[in-house]
Amino acid sequence: MLRRNFLGSLFAGGAVSRLSLAQQQPPPGVFVERSATGQPHAGKVLLAVEAHSDDVPLSAAGTVAKLIDEGYTGYLLRGTNDDMGDAPGLGTPGTIGESALGNERDTVEVAKAMGCKSHFDLNYSNHRMADVSLNEVISRIILLIRALKVDTVVCWDPWAHDEENPDHYMMARAVEAACWMAGRAHDYPEHFAIGLQPKQVLDKYYFARRPEITRVVDISKQIDKKIDANRANVAKGPAGHQGSRLRAELAAQGRKLPLLGDDDVTADRNYIREFVMTRSRELGKRYGVEYAEVFHYISPGAAGADRDPRVDAYVKQHAVPK
Ligand SMILES: [Zn+2]
Repeated sequence: MLRRNFLGSLFAGGAVSRLSLAQQQPPPGVFVERSATGQPHAGKVLLAVEAHSDDVPLSAAGTVAKLIDEGYTGYLLRGTNDDMGDAPGLGTPGTIGESALGNERDTVEVAKAMGCKSHFDLNYSNHRMADVSLNEVISRIILLIRALKVDTVVCWDPWAHDEENPDHYMMARAVEAACWMAGRAHDYPEHFAIGLQPKQVLDKYYFARRPEITRVVDISKQIDKKIDANRANVAKGPAGHQGSRLRAELAAQGRKLPLLGDDDVTADRNYIREFVMTRSRELGKRYGVEYAEVFHYISPGAAGADRDPRVDAYVKQHAVPK
């Protein structure tokens, strides 16, 4: 190799290294939450909130599974009964009643696939949550936050752009208000008469169609759980049994796709990994991990009405005997 070419290659190689390193660094204001060792969240409680049975599976199932793997006790809360079914080609075709029953059954399995201890359904009619009293939804969520002693929520972002589904933003706004009010002593004081205590939610992972990304969660270790949460979502969404259906369609035509393997479970899993996990894979590539989910993250103490912790710190440092 000519020296000039050798130096040129070195320079080019260095530039490429610097470029790929730059690609691995998140932009300012974005934190990459990586896998933790052990169970640093033991004793804490997570509430994953969705309007519909496919919301958390598609947008946040890897993060929910990760936080539970790392010690959280998890619960899944669904706002609607999903009775409006799904867009053509998605989910399972059927009547309104069949949609409600199918999604009710699926939600039990989705919660299990992510490792949740239990789940709750508020059962409002699908696409109709704009009619529901916001205060009613807030009060129902406050009761759950206090009863379960919720520390962290995962939910739709109440203030994100491009949101077209009223159920998403109604649930999200109720959650945001409930997280704050649940910690106050004068809201719904009858709860205290039955033994509950005020409980302030510490932090929030908000997902959205067009999120303001402040936190990237590496879900590479939990990708199989995310795939299984979506595989459990049969009545709704782009995953479920789409792979085995495609396999059967092709078999009827005397054809097959090697991707779909030789049995229905493999067909469903491989279809979901290839076609439904695309966004998680692309986000992972952008942030230097294999699979990722992204959030607008609200950190502990971010609520402006909370007592400023700097007051206590100042008193501790400056108070002198009278
Ligand atoms: Zn939805």
